[in-house]
Amino acid sequence: MGRILNCPRCRKDGLLRTHPQSPREHLASFLFVSPFCCPSCHHRFLASHLWLDHSTHPIDRREHLRIPVRLFLSFSGGKIRGEGTVLDLSMGGCIIKSETQVHTNDIFYLRLSLDDTESPLEVAGMVHSVNARGIAFKFLRAAQENKRLLAFVQAQTLDQPVKSSGKVAVAA
Ligand SMILES: [Zn+2]
Repeated sequence: MGRILNCPRCRKDGLLRTHPQSPREHLASFLFVSPFCCPSCHHRFLASHLWLDHSTHPIDRREHLRIPVRLFLSFSGGKIRGEGTVLDLSMGGCIIKSETQVHTNDIFYLRLSLDDTESPLEVAGMVHSVNARGIAFKFLRAAQENKRLLAFVQAQTLDQPVKSSGKVAVAA
């Protein structure tokens, strides 16, 4: 028998443990404190996972948090060149809207304009699926370790600034 956590914001259960992303969360993981994410309201918080009932709090298998965005992107691979808009971005991949015809398993170099000042972020991605929502790209392994992509994704997902004191806030 274990404890069952409820979301501190909306009080719902069914919370998912997620992988540590920020330095604060990595530090917390040494203290048996894990990040949790509420599937109902998307609130992300830290809590102790000691004595928790692990069957009710499975690790989130979605690779990473998905962030709704509107970013310009261009891509090229073989003889195909295209442009589009990134609608949804995570460390694992992105979903784009584009008029260009692509096929599943095609590999492209994607250039994402994260902001106006810096040069576009270049990542390699494979077409995972094409449907009415758009083209889903899965980033290749190298892209998932891209520091700039990580920094961008973290900046969008962190709702609290990282505290330099190293003190970990634990949700009761
Ligand atoms: Zn919630």
